Order: sequence, then C-alpha cells, then structure tokens
Amino acid sequence: MKSDYLELTDVRVTFDGFVAVDGVTMTVLQGDLRFLIGPNGAGKTTLVDAITGLVPATGSATFGRTELLNRKVHRIARLGVGRTFQTASVFEELTVLQNLDIAAGSGRGPLTMLRKRSSTPPEVEAALEVIGLTDLRDRQAGVLAHGQKQWLEIGMLLVQDSKVLLLDEPVAGMSAEERQQTGELLQRVGENCTVVVVEHDMDFMRSFATSVTVLHAGRVLSEGTVAQVQADPKVQEVYLGR
Ligand code: ADP
Repeated sequence: MKSDYLELTDVRVTFDGFVAVDGVTMTVLQGDLRFLIGPNGAGKTTLVDAITGLVPATGSATFGRTELLNRKVHRIARLGVGRTFQTASVFEELTVLQNLDIAAGSGRGPLTMLRKRSSTPPEVEAALEVIGLTDLRDRQAGVLAHGQKQWLEIGMLLVQDSKVLLLDEPVAGMSAEERQQTGELLQRVGENCTVVVVEHDMDFMRSFATSVTVLHAGRVLSEGTVAQVQADPKVQEVYLGR
C-alpha cells in the first residue's frame, strides 16, 4: 500500500542542550532493506530510540500516516513498529515455540502456555519457517546459538505483526555463515516489511542493503545505493577513511 512507508521529517533529539539527532529527514519504503550507518556517536541509536518511543523528539515520524513520535513504547509496538537490540531479549527458559506464542499473544496465561499444544497457530508456524527454526521449535531458547537467538527475536516481531523492523546491529558477534543466513532472512522479511538495519559491518551492508543512509553528527550526510554512498566524497572523508 502506498502509505506503508516510514517517513521521518526533521526529527530532532536533544539531551540537556546537546543535539544528538539534528533534523533527520528520510523515507523508507516497504520492501526496502535500508542500512543506517555512521561513525560512533552519529545518532543512529538515538534516532531508533525516538521512533520507538524511548526518547522524546521533535519533528515527525510516521508509518502509514500515523505519528509515532512521543507515544508510549507499547502503543508504537501495536502500531506495527518493532525493534531488536544488540543483545537478543528472548525468554531463555522457554522453548522457541513458547517464545513465539507469548509474542503472538496466543497464550492467555501461564497455564495455557505450559499445557501441551495440539496445534500451532498459523502465524507462529509461518514465523518458524521464515526464521529457519522449525526443527528447533521445542528447543529451550537459552541453549540456542547466538545467531539463532537473534532470528528468534526477529520471529517474535513478525508474529506481533510488525510491519516496520528496526534492527540494531543484528549480525554483531555472528559467524560468517550466520551473517549470510541473517541477510537472507532479512531479504525474505523485507519483501513484506520496511526494514531499517543499524550496522557497523560494512561487508554485510554491501551484500544486503538495497539503500543506505549515512548519519554523521546527527545529520544525514549521504543517502542512496551502496555504490552511490561509497562513491560520495563526504562519506569517504568522514567515515570510510579513504
Ligand atoms: P550511535 O548509535 O550512532 O553510535 P548514539 O545515538 O548512541 O550514536 O549517540 C549520539 C550522541 O548522543 C552521542 O554523542 C551520545 O553520547 C549522545 N547520547 C546518547 N544517548 C544519550 C543520553 N541518554 N544522554 C546524553 N547524551 C546521549
């Protein structure tokens, strides 16, 4: 749908007079795999914090024309905007399936969750397949590999019906194989979602970004395809150091 895009207009975040995000304007379309890069302190995390209700901001951030800024965190999640953090937050003692069930809200309470299920809700089944954990559905989340936990967290956003996924360094600490699998997962997810990836891993970006926004000192320094951004002298000067 035409209105299914994330549109930021002049987003500003200040901390005690320090301007961390300084008037960011950007549009991310559905189907886009947008990478948000920039040196440490550029304002990437703060921008994502503003969109997800963790810090107050001025300007506008809309998804499907609904304003997101300065709303409660849970309200933003219910509007379909989901986020992961660098450290995956899954329920370690519960199984993969139980984690997805909780996220889907299909269990009505602890007892429902603990009883043996006769059938798995279709959205949970679909998420298991997309994240590649179908065979590990009964595995305790705490014993999953680092990469698998990240995928489970993405699956939890999918069953919550998140349409915008904001992922904070999803491949940090992953093996090369896990990075490749994560990229392919994001490509599958990106067909139906708007995905913004905050990332430091340049090889990962080159392999999977469909578009890139470079932040520097709280502002958009450059934007475009990977090739366009890499060729931009401003980017080479401040970021890639070439
Ligand atoms: P990035 O994610 O690009 O590394 P951040 O968004 O974490 O950058 O930080 C942007 C700037 O805002 C940094 O200078 C950082 O020190 C500052 N900052 C972030 N959070 C706070 C805060 N809660 N209070 C004060 N300054 C902050």
